[in-house]
Formats: sequence, structure tokens, C-alpha cells
Amino acid sequence: MYNAKSMKAEEFICHEEILDTLAYAEANKNNKELLEQIIAKAKLRKGLSHREASVLLACEDEKLVQEMFALAEQIKKDFYGNRIVLFAPLYLSNYCINHCVYCPYHATNKHIGRKKLTQDEVRAEVIALQDMGHKRLALEAGEDPVNNPIEYILDCIKTIYSIKHKNGAIRRVNVNIAATTVENYRKLKEAGIGTYILFQETYHKESYENLHPRGPKHNYAYHTEAMDRAMEGGIDDVGLGVLFGLERYRYELAGLLMHAEHLEAVHGVGPHTISVPRIKRADDIDPGVFDNGIDDATFCKIIAIIRIAVPYTGMIISTRENQAVREKALHLGISQISGGSRTSVGGYTEDVRPTDTEQFDVSDQRSLDEVIEWLMELGFLPSFCTACYRAGRTGDRFMELCKSKQIQNCCHPNALLTLKEYLEDYASPATKALGEKLLQAELPNIPQEKVREVCLERLQKIAQGERDFRF
Ligand code: SF4
Ligand code: SF4
Repeated sequence: MYNAKSMKAEEFICHEEILDTLAYAEANKNNKELLEQIIAKAKLRKGLSHREASVLLACEDEKLVQEMFALAEQIKKDFYGNRIVLFAPLYLSNYCINHCVYCPYHATNKHIGRKKLTQDEVRAEVIALQDMGHKRLALEAGEDPVNNPIEYILDCIKTIYSIKHKNGAIRRVNVNIAATTVENYRKLKEAGIGTYILFQETYHKESYENLHPRGPKHNYAYHTEAMDRAMEGGIDDVGLGVLFGLERYRYELAGLLMHAEHLEAVHGVGPHTISVPRIKRADDIDPGVFDNGIDDATFCKIIAIIRIAVPYTGMIISTRENQAVREKALHLGISQISGGSRTSVGGYTEDVRPTDTEQFDVSDQRSLDEVIEWLMELGFLPSFCTACYRAGRTGDRFMELCKSKQIQNCCHPNALLTLKEYLEDYASPATKALGEKLLQAELPNIPQEKVREVCLERLQKIAQGERDFRF
């Protein structure tokens, strides 16, 4: 029986509730009065339930869909302005004992090279990432208690935070590792991680079990309840996501939003981020064999609906998507993107992008500098900000700040300060020229006069060599 407050996966992600929701959405997809009511509710910026969002997703009326897109873009502007936060994934190890049928790191893949970074190699990768200008990483590792035990992940985090190379520093390490115990989540928290990210892959239990035929990840409940254990272990910021293409997208959207509602109901704080990966080609993976693939138009609709359903949640898109899709998505609600990514173990220290141990094909292969220049040309403000986590503004404290709109007096100046650091230390001449113009144009947009003055002072100090200011 459906119960958002239950701690049992099959009760807070209730299959019957999802089927009822999908039937309700199908029955009402042409109910203009209801659709308009839901859109009017979304305009209040207080979010939507999984049922309401599902009705919008079923709607095929082009005029209403365009209205949803415009609203998503406006909500994004209201909460995030024109800022886009940048990050990069760092693959630590592709040893894995699971058998996920959509991932080339599955244990039965005997021909893919297996690699695990030593601490010296972690150091070299991180220096390469710092030299690109990155400040925020997402660590990735397969599940393997022998090769990648929690102690290994903790050692890597310690190494990463300790590296001070030129003006570079990784200031926030997010972690994307397999579901684990409360005790291990506590250790990750103590190691100073930012967000714990775990993709559900699919919320459909039967499909989930078929897609993960063996290995610890086969256990649907253990995987689905991981975020509750992470929060019990003290991690306030958790990141959700499904792998679109594995199951029917309408089922996934309902499940994803039910998961968000569950976190809010139980812990008082929803997901910090939602990622929207789509299945991609990789070593022995052909995305064509999964028959739930979604086209770009549907993908954009999903992004827009998530944006209006959970207005305070950050949304992430990776380099799995090409430049054109990323551009559309940025307008519909995405607030964080990766740039200059390499999805293989040890990829950043190679001159030429290695593909032999890639987890997925990278569609957007531009350098970070090209991505930054492109964002600015599109009118976005690239940000390397990591201030909230470092100031202890996580979980409900972050959400309160966000809801009170005070975040505008933090995010915007922090974006300017961190972009300035990037321009001084890493940008090409063309990017630097564009960025300096953007800083001048954006400075007056800081709402509070005092903050504006301090920001200007700090920008000047950065030009003189000082670093790491934050609001
Ligand atoms: S998705 Fe993760 S757990 Fe599954 S095979 Fe790939 S690395 Fe292993
Ligand atoms: S101030 Fe906080 S919410 Fe805003 S961009 Fe920085 S880290 Fe994110």
C-alpha cells in the first residue's frame, strides 16, 4: 500500500500507485480544465505531486506543452538566474562485481581493461582537472568490496582535498558509488563529501531485477532505500536519477517524483539534485536493444516537467548528451553540467581521449574552455561555486535559503568570483575577453548594494592574485 512516509521501498515507490497514476494521467491527458489548473498551480512555484506531473507528461496539446516549457524556463530564471554550475566526473576504478546489462563495466565483460587508480594516479588526474579549471568533482567507481572498498574511496577523497597545485583546488567532492551501509555513509560524511549521488536506474522492480540479474545491486529494496541510509548517516544532500531508456519514461517520472516526495516526507528535505541520463552506446552495450528509448522532444518535456515539479532541486545533464540537446535542456531547467569530461579510468592524463575503458560514449567532446565560452555566448553565467557546502549550508539549511530567495545574494556574486578565478588562471584569450565583459554586465544584477560593493572589491583582489572568496 502506498505510503510516502514508509521506510519500505515497495511502499514509498508503490507499483499500484504508479499504475493508478498512469491510468489517471492517460484518462485526463485531454482534460483541458485540469491541465490548466495544474499549470496554474505550478506557476505558484511550490511544486507538483507525482500525479499532477504525470498528467502534464501525458498531455499532447502542443500549445500547453509550449506553456510548460516557458514556465520551466521562467522558474529556472527565478531560482537560478542565468547561472550554470560546472563539474567533472572522475573515474577511480572500473572493477565491478555487478551485472548491470546496460553498463560495460559489468562483471561478465571479460575483454574490457580493468583499472583502478593508485593514489599517485589520483593526484595526477586531479592536477589535470585543476589545470582545466575544475573545482567540483563527481567520483565514480564500480562496486567491488575487494578492489574498491570504502577505505579506498575515503583515501581518494583525502588525496583529492589535499592537492594544492598552482591556484587550483578541488573544493567539493560529490560521490557516486554503490548503495552501502549507514556506517559507510557516515564515513563519507566525515570525509567531507558534498552530494551522495545514486541513480535508481529504474523504479520498476521487475525490470530492475532483470536488468541487474546478479550481484549486490540485484537487491531492489536495498538500492531504493539507500538514500534513507545516507541521510541516517548524516549526508544531507542526495542526488537522484533514472537511466532513461530502460523502462517506460512515464513510469520512471512518477517513481522519481515519488522518491522525492518520500525524502521530503521523512527527512524534511527533498533531493539536492536530479540527473537525467539517457542510455548511450558503450563498449559492449548497444542502446538499440533497450526498447524504451526516448526521443529528444520527449526528453525535453521530461526535463521541463521535473523543473516545475521540484523547483528547488538542482538538475544535472552530462556530456552523454550532445551540444544541441544540452543547449535546449539549459533553457528548460538544467542548473549543472559537466564539461571536458572523460569517462574512462585515468582519462584526464592522456593526451588523446582514451575510449578503451569508457563507461559511455561522450557526445559532447569539447574542452572545458570551449564549454565556458559557449555558455557565455548563450547568455549563461558559468559558475564554479562550492560555497554552500563549505559554509555548512546543506540539506534543509540550503533549502530554506533557497526558498527565501536569499540565495540570489550568494549564488550570483559567488558565480562572478569563481568565474573571475577561472578567467585569471585558465581561460583562453577569447574566453577571457568574453568573460570580463560578462562580469561587468552582471555585477549590477546583485540585488543588495553592500554585497555588490564587496563583490567588486573581491574581483579586484582576485585580479591581484588572491583566491577563494565566498559569500
Ligand atoms: S552501473 Fe555501476 S554497478 Fe553496474 S556494472 Fe556499471 S559500474 Fe558496476
Ligand atoms: S551559493 Fe550555494 S547554491 Fe549558490 S551556487 Fe554556490 S553552492 Fe550553489
